[in-house]
Amino acid sequence: MAYKITEECISCGACEPECKNQAIKEGETIYVIDPSKCTECIGWFASPKCAEVCPVDACIPDPAHKETKEQLLEKWKKLHPGQTPATT
Ligand code: SF4
Ligand code: SF4
Repeated sequence: MAYKITEECISCGACEPECKNQAIKEGETIYVIDPSKCTECIGWFASPKCAEVCPVDACIPDPAHKETKEQLLEKWKKLHPGQTPATT
């Protein structure tokens, strides 16, 4: 399931460079995650990097975007055509 950023976000910017899918951008008031690009870090890492670096735990799973690991891996493959995922 894609991650989302809650209102707790203090716009520190730490998460943005951690996302290898470029799913995180600065929004008007808080940072935002594009669910069409978030793979829960599947394809790159064993755990979600944005959640690991966020000082206020504002990056959380988004129940509105429930997806299986297989679906997340398919999303990763579409985002990175021709590349081999580092994790599955
Ligand atoms: S969970 Fe991973 S892919 Fe999703 S927004 Fe966070 S860093 Fe990016
Ligand atoms: S690391 Fe957390 S507080 Fe900082 S911009 Fe990202 S979501 Fe917001």
